[in-house]
Amino acid sequence: MRSDEGRADGDVEYETVETPVLVIGAGAAGARTAISLAESDIDCLVLGKRGHGDAHTTWAAGGINASLGSRDPEDSPAIHAADTLNEGHLINDPDGVETVARAMPDRIRELQEWGTPFSETDSGDVQQRYFGAQSFRRTCFVGDRTGEAMLETLIGKAQDLDIAYRENVQITKLLSNGEQVYGALGYDMDNGSLVLVRAHAVVLAAGGYSAVYSRHSSRDDENNGDGPALAYDAGARLMDAEFVQFHPTGMVAERYGEQWEGRLVTEAVRGEGGRLLNADGKRFMERYSPDQMELDARDVVARAIAREIAEGRGTENGGVYLDISHRDRSFIEDRLPSMYERFADLGVDLAEESVEVAPTAHYSMGGVEIDFETGATAVENLYAVGESTAGVHGANRLGGNSLAETVALGKIVGDGLAEHAADRSVADLPVLPASQQRLAREHFAGLDAMAGAGSEGSEDPKALLEELGDLLESHAGILRDEEGLTEGLDALADLRERAGDLAGGERTNRSFEYAVDLGFSLTVAEAVLRGARERRESRGAHFRTDVEGTREEWRRNLRYERSFDGMELATKTPGEPSPAVQEALDAGYELDYHQLE
Ligand SMILES: Cc1cc2nc3c(=O)[nH]c(=O)nc-3n(C[C@H](O)[C@H](O)[C@H](O)COP(=O)(O)OP(=O)(O)OC[C@H]3O[C@@H](n4cnc5c(N)ncnc54)[C@H](O)[C@@H]3O)c2cc1C
Repeated sequence: MRSDEGRADGDVEYETVETPVLVIGAGAAGARTAISLAESDIDCLVLGKRGHGDAHTTWAAGGINASLGSRDPEDSPAIHAADTLNEGHLINDPDGVETVARAMPDRIRELQEWGTPFSETDSGDVQQRYFGAQSFRRTCFVGDRTGEAMLETLIGKAQDLDIAYRENVQITKLLSNGEQVYGALGYDMDNGSLVLVRAHAVVLAAGGYSAVYSRHSSRDDENNGDGPALAYDAGARLMDAEFVQFHPTGMVAERYGEQWEGRLVTEAVRGEGGRLLNADGKRFMERYSPDQMELDARDVVARAIAREIAEGRGTENGGVYLDISHRDRSFIEDRLPSMYERFADLGVDLAEESVEVAPTAHYSMGGVEIDFETGATAVENLYAVGESTAGVHGANRLGGNSLAETVALGKIVGDGLAEHAADRSVADLPVLPASQQRLAREHFAGLDAMAGAGSEGSEDPKALLEELGDLLESHAGILRDEEGLTEGLDALADLRERAGDLAGGERTNRSFEYAVDLGFSLTVAEAVLRGARERRESRGAHFRTDVEGTREEWRRNLRYERSFDGMELATKTPGEPSPAVQEALDAGYELDYHQLE
């Protein structure tokens, strides 16, 4: 990596950094990619908009899937893939799914070898538990802190390998002519300086976009869609943006305070016998899913709750009740320690009373379309990995599969790139074409204009982000129809216009970051609304109240591309699974819900 501070270009001063490979994002996906590069002696720079080790991945609690067969020896990668395709309603990319399922047993053993303290069985194997809609016990875990423990391991490994990391830098644009990427532009959030990074290849590992909804389960100010929006702006295609997973049980701000809005009440509460009740005290899942009740798939339970609320049977705080008070206090304390503690701190005794919950936006299945052999996007030198991408999860994600995707594909993308970048040092970086130099100057001038005294705008970026979140909740939430989606697109056009008049504040202020986030969020919000309107069927997490059921002719993926006239939508047909996975699909494996632990 080479850095040249304070280069002046016209009126704009910026720092230039040069690196063979730039990895944007230091969650599990970015960290695993960088490790593969470093193991092949390829220098790279990893950037994150937070501190080292502080990425959204740390919030993943429940576990990571791999068909190790520690508890159920019949399990296999083919059955893991079949479960994933089934839950994705068969529009996943079968190559992506099979690549992840096949790689996972090795990735878990590797993480364990590098120090991740996975829970173990009495005989010393990695312990595995059931997770919703999976045929076997396949989810490996580190108590209820799996993501945090994994990221600690990956960051430790990255530090051992001396991988360069720069924290608190937000990338705001990729240097691209629509066909080829040359690097990225951004700013240092600590001192406000502008940064231009030149690289032979750029990997986007910048997370997803579920936080564009106002009630969401992500960390604040993350998952705003940076990754997909940066790729789209650079000329890459997005896919499946209309599919957003809503977790059924998020906390309700009206009851517990704003800071708790959307925070997850773990699925384990239902797994341990928790019952969902409406405001009339009725156990309403009897009507929606009499066999599987509260343990049906996330989309089914979330929709049932949304219907109860929409039809006036919700609580006055806009939720329903989740009740586990029929269990003994010692049982709850033992099986659900963090939930017991969290609610005790809020003055709620889980052994005596119910809690109020409502669905919360939890995961974005859509993102950048990639080739699963390399992570390549449609733009030369641009790659993507992790929650920024689309394809593995189809119309709905299996719990435990996103952490799996980060490490399985992180290694593949890193290994592939190591070949691509071999023998290409910073000395070989091509001269930045004049068009890219102009693009950088104009973009930096725009950032300058949005910041500080130069900013004459009147709109508060945070307030607009909140309005956008509410817009998506009300027009592209769990229950969608054409009229609402069209109204949403009209309202989005108004918001976009107002976003042209932002008061960004100094670049070291949070409000400047919000202004940048707003740009990204508007892009992905448009994709969600357009895609949801285009897809005239219900499938997985996408539910249309104005069209009947799932339609075979819609077993297709929607693609989103930037054109001269704006966002253009097209479709493609997903590929077919391999014979082994097809056999597993035909065998119709099913979880016995009565065995849930
Ligand atoms: C509450 C919760 C619980 C979950 N539990 C599980 C679970 O049990 N199992 C499971 O499989 N999945 C789980 N998930 C999903 C899983 O956590 C994520 O899909 C996964 O961690 C994503 O990892 P990532 O590396 O792709 O992105 P992230 O971990 O989100 O990392 C993104 C990185 O990109 C950086 N970044 C973003 N934008 C920019 C920018 N513009 N410039 C510079 N840097 C940028 C960030 O700073 C960060 O370093 C859970 C999700 C939530 C919300």
